[in-house]
Amino acid sequence: MAKIHELSVNLSNQIAAGEVIERPASVVKELVENAIDAGSSRIRIEFTDAGLKQIVVQDNGSGIDSDQIDLAFTRYATSKIASEHDLFNVNTLGFRGEALASIAAVSHVEILTNSANEIGTRAEFAGGVKKTQENAAARKGTQITVKDLFYNTPARLKYLRSPRTEIMKIVDIVNRIALGYPEIAFTLMNEGRILLRTAGNNNLRQTVSSVYGRNIAEKMLSFKSSDNDFEISGLISNPELTRSTRNFISILLNGRYIRNFKLASAVMAGYGNNLAAKHYPIAVVKIKTDPLLVDVNVHPTKREVRLSKETELSRLITNAISTVLLKNETKSDAISNL
Ligand code: ADP
Ligand code: MG
Repeated sequence: MAKIHELSVNLSNQIAAGEVIERPASVVKELVENAIDAGSSRIRIEFTDAGLKQIVVQDNGSGIDSDQIDLAFTRYATSKIASEHDLFNVNTLGFRGEALASIAAVSHVEILTNSANEIGTRAEFAGGVKKTQENAAARKGTQITVKDLFYNTPARLKYLRSPRTEIMKIVDIVNRIALGYPEIAFTLMNEGRILLRTAGNNNLRQTVSSVYGRNIAEKMLSFKSSDNDFEISGLISNPELTRSTRNFISILLNGRYIRNFKLASAVMAGYGNNLAAKHYPIAVVKIKTDPLLVDVNVHPTKREVRLSKETELSRLITNAISTVLLKNETKSDAISNL
C-alpha cells in the first residue's frame, strides 16, 4: 500500500462537491438558498443549456465584503453558525459552509457583489482557484455566475439525464422554494423565456397561482392549526382536484422544502376515503416550529431532516386537513341543496 497523505484542498473540495452538487438543479438550490439567507426580497435565476453552460443567480441581499470573498469560497467557512449550540438551533437554510467551495471546485464561477460598505467586488474562480479579484461597480446584493458546470469532472456529466429532465428538476426546486417564501419575488428564466415569476407580496394563493396556474389556485382550500410545538397552515386541493403522483405535495418546514414520506402520508390521510386509488392531492403545507426540534444536519443537501415529535405533527396535519375538507363538503352540500 502507498503511504497515507492528506488530499489537497482542491481535491477534497471536488470530493465534497460530489455530495452537494449532483446536477445543475443543486447549484440553483444552493445559490438561491444563499440569496434567501442574505435577506433578499428579489431573486432572479437564469440558465442556459439546462444549466450546464451557465447559471446566473442575482439577489438584492446583504452582499459580501471584498475581504470576505476568499472565505466565502472556503469549505466549512460560514457566517451562519459559530458554536455547537447554533448547530442545533439553525435558523438559516445554509450553515455547513460547503456550497460555494463545492460549486467553484467543479465549474468556472464569477461573483459580483456589493455589501454597500464599499464600491463592490468582482472575482473569478476556475476549478476552485481564484483567478482575479478587483473593485467593480455593482448594485447592493450578489450575482453569481456558474459556467461550464462539471467541465473537470466528466464522470459527473455522464450521470446527468436529458436536458429536458434537468430543466424540470431546476423548475421543480425553484417552484418549491418559491412556495416556501411567498414574500420573495422570484423570476426563473431559461434562455430568455420566463418559467416562473412570483409577485413576492406574501400571498400564498397568488404564489400557488404562479406555480400551478390560476385555475388550481382558485380551487384550493386554506387551512390553519397549531399545538404547543407546531404552527401549520397552507393550501390544499379538494378531493376532486388530484394528480397522479405525490410530487404536488410540498412540505415546507421553517421555510425549508423537505422530503418526508410520513408527513406527506399524513396529508393524504386527511382526505380519508375521498381520494381514489393512485390519486394524490395538491398541497402546500407550511410548518413553523422551534429549530431545536429539527435536526437538519443529517444529509449534505438537507433535503431530509430528523424531526422530534413527528407523530404529533402528523396527527395535527391530518386533523387540520380533514376538518377543512369536511367543512367544505358541508358548504357545497348546502349550496347543491338550494
Ligand atoms: P453556507 O450557506 O452553508 O454558509 P456557502 O458556501 O453556501 O455556505 O456560503 C458561504 C458564505 O458566503 C455564507 O455563509 C455567506 O456568508 C456568504 N454568501 C454566500 N452567498 C451569499 C449571498 N448570495 N449573499 C450574501 N452572502 C453570501
Ligand atoms: Mg449556502
